[in-house]
Amino acid sequence: MVKYVFDFTEGHKDLKDLLGGKGANLAEMTNLGLPVPPGFTISTDACRAYLAEGHAPDGLDAQVGDYLAALETRMGRKLGDPEDPLLVSVRSGAKFSMPGMMETVLNIGLSDASVSGLAQVAGDARFAWDSYRRLIQMFGKTVLSIDGEHFEQALETAKRARGLTADTGLDAADLAILVDSYKAIVREQAGREFPQDAREQMDLAIRAVFESWNTERAMLYRRQERIPHDLGTAVNVCAMVFGNLGPHSGTGVAFTRDPATGHSGVYGDYLANAQGEDVVAGIRNTLSLTELENLDKTSYDELMRIMSVLESHYRDLCDIEFTIERGKLWMLQTRVGKRTAAAAFLIASNLVDEEVITPDEALERVNGNQLAQLMFPQFDLSGTPLSHSTRRIATGMNASPGAAVGRAVFDSYTAIKWSRSGERVILIRRETNPDDLGGMIAAQGILTSRGGKTSHAAVVARGMGKTCVCGAEELDVDTKARRLTAPSGLVIEEGGLISIDGSSGAIYAGEVPVMPSPVVEYFEGRLGPDSAHADELVRAVHRIMTWADEKRALYVRANADTPDDAARARRFGAQGIGLCRTEHMFLGERRTLVERLILAEDEAERRKVLAELLPMQRDDFVGILTAMGGLPVTVRLLDPPLHEFLPDLTELSVRVAVAEARGEDSEADLRLLQAVHKLHEQNPMLGLRGVRLGLVVPGLFIMQVRAIAEAAAQVAKAGGVARVEIMVPLVGAVQELEIIRDEARSVLDEVTETTGADIRALIGTMIELPRAALTAGQIAEAAEFFSFGTNDLTQTTWGFSRDDVEAAFFSAYLDRGIFGVSPFETLDRDGVGRLVSVAAEEGRKARPALKLGVCGEHGGDPDSVHFFHDVGLDYVSCSPFRVPVARLEAARAAVRNPRA
Ligand code: PEP
Ligand code: MG
Repeated sequence: MVKYVFDFTEGHKDLKDLLGGKGANLAEMTNLGLPVPPGFTISTDACRAYLAEGHAPDGLDAQVGDYLAALETRMGRKLGDPEDPLLVSVRSGAKFSMPGMMETVLNIGLSDASVSGLAQVAGDARFAWDSYRRLIQMFGKTVLSIDGEHFEQALETAKRARGLTADTGLDAADLAILVDSYKAIVREQAGREFPQDAREQMDLAIRAVFESWNTERAMLYRRQERIPHDLGTAVNVCAMVFGNLGPHSGTGVAFTRDPATGHSGVYGDYLANAQGEDVVAGIRNTLSLTELENLDKTSYDELMRIMSVLESHYRDLCDIEFTIERGKLWMLQTRVGKRTAAAAFLIASNLVDEEVITPDEALERVNGNQLAQLMFPQFDLSGTPLSHSTRRIATGMNASPGAAVGRAVFDSYTAIKWSRSGERVILIRRETNPDDLGGMIAAQGILTSRGGKTSHAAVVARGMGKTCVCGAEELDVDTKARRLTAPSGLVIEEGGLISIDGSSGAIYAGEVPVMPSPVVEYFEGRLGPDSAHADELVRAVHRIMTWADEKRALYVRANADTPDDAARARRFGAQGIGLCRTEHMFLGERRTLVERLILAEDEAERRKVLAELLPMQRDDFVGILTAMGGLPVTVRLLDPPLHEFLPDLTELSVRVAVAEARGEDSEADLRLLQAVHKLHEQNPMLGLRGVRLGLVVPGLFIMQVRAIAEAAAQVAKAGGVARVEIMVPLVGAVQELEIIRDEARSVLDEVTETTGADIRALIGTMIELPRAALTAGQIAEAAEFFSFGTNDLTQTTWGFSRDDVEAAFFSAYLDRGIFGVSPFETLDRDGVGRLVSVAAEEGRKARPALKLGVCGEHGGDPDSVHFFHDVGLDYVSCSPFRVPVARLEAARAAVRNPRA
């Protein structure tokens, strides 16, 4: 018999797969002796079985019954007992936190009979009726799928009848009447009575939590966050403690450090006389924790003590949910808290200083996506004054950093619609709820007028790395009329431009100019980590990058094909160029030379054109080799199909037809048209390109090799060092490579001889066709290095045209779970990755000194970098801007899986 239920005393923090994050950490806190109300966790196994079978698995009900009985014994009360009822909460808790995505029901066990028992025992009738109406409301929404608006409206009506604005003003009699209205809503909307049997309430709530795993919004969130769909959620059943038992009770959230900046100190929100969800939902405005100190010093001190216990136990920032019931503090949840990218770097660096973690652990506490986020631009407010129409209109809370500019929209639907048509939008809401998720994803940034840093908007935006300003109470947001009004009276209608600064909380009407991030300034070398202008974040990034460079086994190179890009790549820490594409060197003014080459009717003309191209190419390479100052530069011989350098077929046909009609047809255009026709291909990516060009266009590759060799000689003569690696694209058979290699070698020898320069050149190939990967052992006999072209290798392995499929059907594939992320973005380990590892292994077997690298887009993708480390490549190469990300991820890969 499978064990599905675990008491809090039976678990610990490393059982998240089984107990979910919340359950595992409740168990951990219980075992630390912290004040956690007793309870038990129903495992994710049970959820998976329920979702697979459509009903509770065998034995679950009985096990729940046993654990409930034990809980009742411990509490000395029975669930739903009319005299003195035990009440429980039923909360979801998956392995990865999914804020606001799934369900919670509080106060289970209340009924028409037990509500008066509770009133009696608590000595507070108002409290009992308030708890009951909350139960019906939450149960109605989550278990019976009733639209929450119905309950909100009834509550609003009750308040209005008494001339109240806050629900705390309603007394016991008002609430008893409200309970009747709520029960009527249940009857009308769900076609059944609100269940009076406590165990039935509990069982239905547990099933509703299981089912909430597969709601649309939960699935959308998981796709966004790349959380697997097959994990399921655990369910926590916990004895209720009450924050709504009058002014000496309350509920709050706390962080052991500031999750926005990473600063040490105490951060959090507290709401007196309230129950759990009120704080997170941002319904009422909260107090800060410092204010709690004045309200209830004993509980505050106890909270501080527990926070420090938790931080030293978890050795990281923790976030906490707590409740104070008549002056007694209870812990309802903790976990290692989410944080902004900046906070992640600062906390990791500070914890090393505090000797809590090692530099290796610091590397595990940050990641490449966070670093990429820190490289986003920020608002530039230093220079010229803002234009007349652009001005600061209000300030909210800096909930999630970044600088976002866009058109104001006031609902999720419009956000999605406008962003699809290419508009940048800022989603503005009073507060967000899980139904706004689609709009939040579509928007550049999110602005709310209510709720704190732990509101739904703030938590979800931080998770997505999206700019968010929340709780801007000075703004009057009218979502119905689709406009906001600033304190000055200024109105922004839907479509008006607005800028929000998630780092400072500032809100501007109009468009504020943006400037590069200080982290980029640091990488560019314009901001030294020790300079007066560098801030603590730049210093933290510098330290962590220094540790990363000491740790990593992979070299990091850049894809660059101009001296400027090469120079930037070096500043960003590139240790060479892994891919210098040569195609752009044949565009612009040189295009006519390519046309002449293609149209050449005899050998003499062809030679003439190549002779004209040679010095230009040589200069290109001199520039790049000089910029790289002796670091290796991999130059790829021409790859794309020739027609890419010729005029477009349709345009040219029209030009020729028009000219003909006017009787002014040109001989040259006609010949060009013929050539374009001849070179036209149905599938150019599978046509005459790569090494095939080198084999059928006489002299082309040789000219390029000569230009490389002469450039290297020139650099050497001038006292520099040039290390070149000549790379042949799209090789599928060793014979192709052998022919080009032999020709290239003789040119290299000849140039060495005539110039007397010491030219250090390797000749190798890209591996970007499945056949190349599968015959890597043979190809390695002729290649001094391999560079995996994972763009083409993905294209040819899947049979996906890389230029067409992402727009055509990838979203359907993602929706249907065929893959969780585009294989052009993150390497498909099972398919393409398998080819890479086979080729790496067989290549090295044939030639132990074979140098291995990757130059497809995946070279800068965090997950893929880990794979390349694991299969033992020597380097990854990516665009200059992603070089720091690759450096960091290469180090993280080495921490996780050290190389011998
Ligand atoms: C590749 O195919 O991965 C590659 C780097 O070459 P390109 O993208 O230029 O085809
Ligand atoms: Mg390629």
